[in-house]
Order: sequence, then structure tokens, then C-alpha cells
Amino acid sequence: MATELHHFINGAKVAGTSGRTLDVFNPNTGEVSARTPLASADEVRSAIASSAAAFPEWASVNPQRRARVMFNFKRLVEDNMNELAELLSAQHGKVVADSKGDVQRGLEVIEFACGIPHLQKGEFTEGAGPGIDMYSMRQPLGVCAGITPFNFPAMIPMWMFGVSIACGNTFVCKPSEKDPSVPLRLAELMMEAGAPAGVLNVINGDKEAVDTLLTDEHVEAISFVGSSAIAEYIYATGAAHGKRVQAMGGAKNHAIIMPDADLDRVVDDLIGAGYGSAGERCMAISVAVPVGKETADRLIEKLIPRVESLKVGLSTDDEADYGPMVTAEQRDKVAGWIDRGVEEGASLLVDGRGFELQGYEGGFFIGGSLFDNVTPDMDIYKEEIFGPVLSVVRAETFEEAAKLPSEHQYGNGVSIFTRDGDAARSFAANVNVGMVGINVPIPVPLAYHSFGGWKRSSFGGTNQHGMEGVRFYTKVKTVTSRWPTGVKEGSSFVIPTMK
Ligand code: NAD
Repeated sequence: MATELHHFINGAKVAGTSGRTLDVFNPNTGEVSARTPLASADEVRSAIASSAAAFPEWASVNPQRRARVMFNFKRLVEDNMNELAELLSAQHGKVVADSKGDVQRGLEVIEFACGIPHLQKGEFTEGAGPGIDMYSMRQPLGVCAGITPFNFPAMIPMWMFGVSIACGNTFVCKPSEKDPSVPLRLAELMMEAGAPAGVLNVINGDKEAVDTLLTDEHVEAISFVGSSAIAEYIYATGAAHGKRVQAMGGAKNHAIIMPDADLDRVVDDLIGAGYGSAGERCMAISVAVPVGKETADRLIEKLIPRVESLKVGLSTDDEADYGPMVTAEQRDKVAGWIDRGVEEGASLLVDGRGFELQGYEGGFFIGGSLFDNVTPDMDIYKEEIFGPVLSVVRAETFEEAAKLPSEHQYGNGVSIFTRDGDAARSFAANVNVGMVGINVPIPVPLAYHSFGGWKRSSFGGTNQHGMEGVRFYTKVKTVTSRWPTGVKEGSSFVIPTMK
């Protein structure tokens, strides 16, 4: 029996009333496990109204009390870690250990948000002029909304609502319709932690729900993570309606492998970062660029047996390297990209198409694939595949290799593997990409730094979490005050300047 999912509005579960739903699958078996209600514009407006009503009181709660709610929330999520990870794994398909990592990376943003009394402090200048003090404060914006992708159903909502709510905003989250149960559960836990009703609402839906959030006059800011075409649309539409918008998009993350790199370590890193979570990570390494023929040949020789022996299994299998993809559609899309690579003339050294897990033939599994001799003019290089497929692009020189990520349409993450500090330092300084790893395969910044790519991986120019997140979710007010007021100077018709 498929479970009928709900919205979470004003502190309570609310059944969908639009009559439209979308199936959620058990990706291990292919069976429908739940149905997500797709909200009508009126249902979305009721969630926005609830958050708007909750805002004035929540904004006036002192920052230390807001931090206590965050501390309570952190403890509750930790207490419910196993349940959340299993729920996540059962809808997304990532293995349970990786699902715990998804929750944990979100929790790290909550830990950062627990420092909000310090983070949201303003600035003060005593004696900026005779009897004049000047100070600035960071005030919350109002109702903020987050639209999130399927691939990190715990971490990405927490990136957004963690910082936003700590800053004194109220929040409407529109999670991916493919795996919405974890965000729904997180909203319940936020209420249990002491946030008043309406501070965090979850509305399920598709384009109709998103368009209502983008155009409703009561929504002040929109945070989006998903594919680039939608990110660009979100940015343009939200900005046209006067909203502050940050919109993160897709990726094609390169790993540059220098001839002096420790190849055994590199192979370990490429296998984990390329195939973990079935490649459904925006920071997955999808392109390896060995420098020089000898490096390339040695790398390929080591990669082939590792890709062939990847253990693809049930998301509940502790021994599995990765589980099924989120939907059959996603799996078929990846298989279609592998077909395309073969047509384009790339060398398919390991073919994951057609993989079936015995006894689970209906599951959305796909084996790991490895391409050699991929060139920058091929579509499989230009576009994001978002699956367990690694493409090797051979470069003759460091300069040729370094140009590739810089000139790619996406600029999310990139890594360089080398023992040469000069090469690494100059690469990090000059590459046209937002997040750089030096001998680190998945350079996802920790919560107190900030996450964001460049070029078509991000629209709007502000990153998630860290101080960038606090700045995104607050507006600055600057006050100039003069005490005592009794000094008589007469009227001045010129702009005040500092003598
Ligand atoms: P998606 O773009 O299909 O969906 C993301 C969100 O947008 C969902 O909530 C969805 O309901 C909504 N949406 C989909 N189509 C829409 C439309 N036409 N109008 C309005 N809203 C719409 O992305 P996905 O498949 O859920 O996630 C995978 C993508 O997300 C990949 O491209 C991946 O690289 C990217 N991603 C990026 C980052 C990052 O930080 N840069 C992080 C994670 C995932």
C-alpha cells in the first residue's frame, strides 16, 4: 500500500487537496511506495500566509533563544538519525551510511547556526563625529522560501532553513517531489525543538508550487538548488518579482592528475567521488584529466578493475558501494548518455548498462561505466550526466589540462592531484571554478565556510551557509545617532563630510 504524503503547514500535517499527486518509488524494487501531493497555488499561498503570520513574533525572539531552538533541533535530529537515514535511503536509493552523511552534513550547518547570537551581531563605531555614534544591524528579511533537489533531501533543506530561521526569518520549503519524506519529518522535529507554528512549513509540489513562491509578494527571498536550466529560470523569475535569489545549478567536476601524483590514492579517490551515491552528487567527479600519456595509461590500467568490481546493491546493504538511482527515468537518462558517448566515438572501457541485481530486476540499478578518449567537443563532456560514469579526457600538458575546467560551462568543483606545491597553488589561484580541492576529491566546504560554484553552476552570486548565508538571509540597517542633541550648529546645505 502506497502511503499518501502530506504538506506540513502551521505546525500540522495537512492533506493535499489539489487532486494531483506524483508517485514516489522504492528504488530497490521499482514499486510505488508513496504519493506526493502536488500543491495548488492556493495551498502554497496558505503556507506562505502561515509563515507571514509567524514572522513578527519569531523575528522579535532574542538571538540566544533562537539559538536554543537550534540546539534542541540538533539533538532531536541526532536522536532520530537512524530513522531519518533509513527513510532517506528508502526513497533516494543511496546506501544507509551515505544517507547518514547526508543528514550529518546538514546538521553541521545547524551547529553553525547555533552561533547566531555572535554571527548576527552588527558593527559599532563610537565617536564617528562630535557626539555621533554609528551602528549597523542585520535584520531578518521575512518569509523566505527554499526549493530543493532530490539528491540531498536532508542536507540541502538544512543548509537553507537552518541559517534562515536562526536569523529570525520564517521559511517555506518546497522539497523535491521524488523524496519529500525527510524534509517533512525535519519540519516536525523543528516544531518539537520549540519553533512556533509557521516558522517552518513544507509544501510539496511541482512547477505550479514553485511559480507561486516565485511570484507571491509576501516571499522576500528564494534559495534554489537543482539543475541549471531551472536555476536560471528561478533566478530570472524571482528577481523580476523583486526577490533576493540564490540559485545553484548543475556541475561537471574535473580532477586533474599530475604525473607526480600518488596514483593509488588518486584511484581510491576517483572511485569514491565518481561512483559514490551512484554519481548523483553535484560535487561528484565526472571527468578525470591525466597529464601525459604515461599517467593516462597507468591510470586507466588501475581504474578498469576497480570500476568492474564496484559492488552495486540494495540501499540497505551495508556492503554495497552504491545503491539504485532515484527513478527509472534517471537511470534511463544515464544509460542514454552512455549510448551517446559510444556514438560520439569515446572508448567505453566498462559498460554499466543493463546491470540487474538478481531478485530485484524491477529496481533502478545501473553499473559503473568508464570512458577513455573523451574529447571536449563531445556532448558527454559538455553536459552533466549525473550518474556513475567517469570520463577520462587526456591532456598533454598541465596548461592544456588546467584550461578544461576553466573553459567548461559549469564551475562548481575541481580537484588537482599532485605533489608539486607550485602547480597546486597556481592552479587554485587561477582556475575559473568556485570550489577547489588540492589532493581532496570532493572539496565541499564545511558549514562555517560557504558553498557555491561559478558560471552556470550558480546564478545570483551568493553562496550557501557560512557568513555568506547569514548575509543572504539578513538585510543591513545602519543608524547614525547624535547625543547630546543640544549642540547648535545651524542648518547645513552641503552633504555632511568628516572634517
Ligand atoms: P531539478 O532541477 O529537476 O529539480 C530541483 C527542484 O526544482 C525540485 O524541487 C523540482 O520540483 C523543481 N523543479 C523542477 N522542474 C521545475 C520547473 N520546470 N519549474 C519550477 N521548478 C521546477 O533537479 P533534481 O533532478 O532534483 O536535482 C539534480 C540537479 O541538482 C543536478 O543538476 C545537480 O547537479 C543539481 N545540484 C546542484 C547542487 C549545487 O549546489 N550546485 C547541489 C545538489 C544538486
